[in-house]
Amino acid sequence: MRYVSTRGQAAPVGGAEAMIRGLAPDGGLYLPEEIPAFTEAEKSLLRDGSYADAALCVCEKFLPELPREPLRAAVREAYSRFDGPDPAPIARIAEGVGVLELWHGPTCAFKDMALQLFPRVLPLCKAREGETRETWILVATSGDTGKAALEGFRDVPGIHVFVYYPKDGVSEVQRAQMVTQRGGNVRVAAVRGNFDDAQTAVKRALGDGALAARLEGRGVRLSSANSINFGRLLPQIVYYARTALRLSGGELVRFVVPSGNFGNILAGYLAKRMGAPVGELVCASNENRVLADFLATGVYDVRRPFHKTISPSMDILVSSNLERLLFLATDGNAERVRAWMRDLRERGVYAVDSETLARIRADFGAGSCDGEGTRRAMAACWRENGYLLDPHTAVGFAVLRELAPKGPTVLVSTASPFKFAQDVLPAVGAPRADGFAALDALSRATGLPVPTPLAELPGLPVRFREEVASGEIEKAWADLLPGLG
Ligand SMILES: *Cc1c(COP(=O)(O)O)cnc(C)c1O
Repeated sequence: MRYVSTRGQAAPVGGAEAMIRGLAPDGGLYLPEEIPAFTEAEKSLLRDGSYADAALCVCEKFLPELPREPLRAAVREAYSRFDGPDPAPIARIAEGVGVLELWHGPTCAFKDMALQLFPRVLPLCKAREGETRETWILVATSGDTGKAALEGFRDVPGIHVFVYYPKDGVSEVQRAQMVTQRGGNVRVAAVRGNFDDAQTAVKRALGDGALAARLEGRGVRLSSANSINFGRLLPQIVYYARTALRLSGGELVRFVVPSGNFGNILAGYLAKRMGAPVGELVCASNENRVLADFLATGVYDVRRPFHKTISPSMDILVSSNLERLLFLATDGNAERVRAWMRDLRERGVYAVDSETLARIRADFGAGSCDGEGTRRAMAACWRENGYLLDPHTAVGFAVLRELAPKGPTVLVSTASPFKFAQDVLPAVGAPRADGFAALDALSRATGLPVPTPLAELPGLPVRFREEVASGEIEKAWADLLPGLG
């Protein structure tokens, strides 16, 4: 199976190579040339088999060149690190409404669904391509991705991971999760500045040809673990296909997805294109409602203020994965995708034609809610359903409540409420508490246990105290490659 770039100016590559590269050399994102379809036998397996079997099936559809037994072991190991028998259980909160809980992994956010598996698949891709150089994964994070990447890649041979987080831009719990990370191949540094400074620093390093040449001379290749890498989307297809097949009963299953970079919901679209009974995909935005506006009007406009919200993992204006949808919705018209991306870069806005918009709207709905609405949604769900939501999933719940009933509906839940305990407390009528104290306070107020990975945090030793300016992120590499400068 060949993978092509959404911008059409890079040579097609095999799947394994697409995973290793992350981003296509023309700046586009990789997609398989043809989206494979599930056979009836595969649908039965996805519906009735174990989660690991379902994940193996999806991996084999997209990476048929990888050897089966090592892939099977990778999948087993990845999903054995979740806190229950099913890594993606569904809680029924009302008639016809289920919540798909994607936060039972080691870092308590949905990023684990992909970042437990992808780091185990990447070495198989490297072996298949005869790539013996070390891979250095650079990650800029506003919180959830960094920790999930650290935990996923920890002690994976041949790979080092470097996470850069904004010194003043993550919560106390998120910082503690990262600076106490175990593993011999991980580094964490605070970048002085905000998330954009960290992101810019990483992008500059990834795009620095001279640096790449120097590193390659020393046996190192840089890569990325953001959702621009197709390897991050692939494992997410599994839970959409499986959930839709399980709940369908002959109907299409609608999903409401709290969205930021559009990676989660796009995996739902891929599952649908593969033949899973997925109905409408509803994109839920917070105050940074650039996606909801686009899906309503066909105009993508980032010339607007950036809001810092209580659902920070959705605070994003440039949603990378929308580019993949544009490519798919235009039957692979890379020329048009390129023109839109050029408009975005040069003018901060692009507008798609009415035919493309109509095609997108045939599959996608959208809605948004502000901070007040998010708080109200958390309180309402707790009061009416006895079910506790985190502030990201609550955005989805608020949007879901505005929808007319239409067959089985699934709210995709992206984080454990404990990860954002401070902002969840008021929803259950408890007094304010900060940081770690908020975890216990939330547990006392709800009777729910603090997830083990968060409960153990205060006792763990801090391993990483390094702080860098955004112009010198390579600093953390000095002891690995002495004399690099
Ligand atoms: C990353 C994240 C999102 C947004 O997912 P995208 O794939 O970027 O759309 C939503 N909620 C939480 C908790 C996240 O960590």
